[in-house]
Amino acid sequence: MTKSLAYALEPEDINTQKEYIAYSKGVHSYSPAINKLLDLSDDYVPGAERAFKAGHPAVWCQANNFVPPLLYSLGVIPVAAGEMGRYSAKEDMLIAEDIYQFPVETCSMVKCVVAQWHKRINSGTINRILANSSGCEPYNMAWEIVKKHGYDVYSNEVIYRGPTVHGERLEQLVKFTMEQMLDVAEWLTGRREVDEEKLRIEVARKNRLLTKLKKVLELRRSHPFYMKSLAIILTLNVGLANYFGQPQAYEAAIDELISELENAPINEKDLETVIPLVWAGGTGQEFGIYEAIDQAGGALLGLRSVPFRLYREDVPPLEALARWIYDNSGAGAGVYARNVLDSEVERLKAKGVILYGYIGCSYSTVNREMFRKFFHAKGVACVNLEGSFQTGAPTGQVLTRVKAFVEMLAAA
Ligand code: SF4
Repeated sequence: MTKSLAYALEPEDINTQKEYIAYSKGVHSYSPAINKLLDLSDDYVPGAERAFKAGHPAVWCQANNFVPPLLYSLGVIPVAAGEMGRYSAKEDMLIAEDIYQFPVETCSMVKCVVAQWHKRINSGTINRILANSSGCEPYNMAWEIVKKHGYDVYSNEVIYRGPTVHGERLEQLVKFTMEQMLDVAEWLTGRREVDEEKLRIEVARKNRLLTKLKKVLELRRSHPFYMKSLAIILTLNVGLANYFGQPQAYEAAIDELISELENAPINEKDLETVIPLVWAGGTGQEFGIYEAIDQAGGALLGLRSVPFRLYREDVPPLEALARWIYDNSGAGAGVYARNVLDSEVERLKAKGVILYGYIGCSYSTVNREMFRKFFHAKGVACVNLEGSFQTGAPTGQVLTRVKAFVEMLAAA
């Protein structure tokens, strides 16, 4: 799929993330599947809030790791609080700073989410928050504060496996985490138990989707421009974790996407000119950055959240959830994520790595610096970007750096 001038966009022409999604739908007009995935992403938060008002249980949470399978098995929609970032603007920063007294330098993700919760107080929408102490200190502060404003908050303990933790220590962690999951079930339903059959169905669903997304990523190697950067990052980073609140619709769209990719003609010129890149960040809400990558001829073919290991289906499902966390790249230590990135760079023969984090995040700053040193030592080019979380076009400086990086790789 070659680039068309009809898709040319000056990122400053677009002011909201919703407009970026509408634009991306137009760019992917040839793909009903990608349009459905973008619609699912666009309607994730509003759809969950509508469902809640219609009587379906839903909670704000980080909506990754063990949370979505557990919550779906309990009949509760997991709603990723971070997805509210796309509705935030400067006004939200001011709410967090003026009303909640967050220091100006606090990470914009936390400030956006707090302001969005603030705007929803007494609005009849979702009022429960499943917090996760593994997040970070600013986030921990955020849910403690909103608790005082009427939200029902439950926070589970830190999930972390140090690189040297094996054997009995690991088994203790697994047991501890299973107990925490039962605590979550009790908070949500009043009963300290899970329905094993329902949870088994969710584990099987997750494994099916992990396998299908691996296939999508493989097929994208022969069709690098079929699914542009924004669409893949939303589909993989967010959708694969929580299905945008609609598991069946998400899986149906992925099936359709696989069929589209399998039947799409291969464009040899695309394969010659593509600049394979690995995205080593979370889901940046500055959607214009993805557009800049696309326009410069780059393709995000590898991501930090690439499907890695499947859940075990030979152990009880609660145990499978706990073991998956500690066997996977999200177990805490930065070296786990780095290893995934490294294997993606090797697998894709990537020309560069884009390290992305938010201004004010000391955690990702340390990780990014570690990743940068590692890849530079291996001779892999990296660009280290800091962005913000609220809506609006990314700064010209960030866009210029992205374009210059990709164009430098093209010329190399
Ligand atoms: S970007 Fe960093 S500081 Fe902000 S919420 Fe995430 S981990 Fe916390």
